[in-house]
Amino acid sequence: MANYKRTEYRQVITGMMMLGYSIRETAYLLKIARQTVKRYRDMERPATDKCRCGKPAQHNGWCAWRYQRSKPRQEFMRKWHDAD
Ligand SMILES: [Zn+2]
Repeated sequence: MANYKRTEYRQVITGMMMLGYSIRETAYLLKIARQTVKRYRDMERPATDKCRCGKPAQHNGWCAWRYQRSKPRQEFMRKWHDAD
C-alpha cells in the first residue's frame, strides 16, 4: 500500500523549505526523520533550493534571514558590541 502521507508531506515539506525552514527544524516540527525531509526537498528542486536571502539553500555563514531567526547569533552580536 502506498504511503498515504506522501502527498501531504510533500506539500508541507516543500512549503516549509520555501519559507526558509532548515531541514533540522522541519524534521523536528513534523516529528519525522531528517532523511525524509531531504528526500522530499530533493523532489521539489529547484523550488526548495534558495535561502530566503537569495543565496543557495546550503550557503555558508550568516545572512539577514538566519540572523533574524537565531537567538544565539543575536546574543553573540549583542555581546560583541558591548565588549568595548
Ligand atoms: Zn541566507
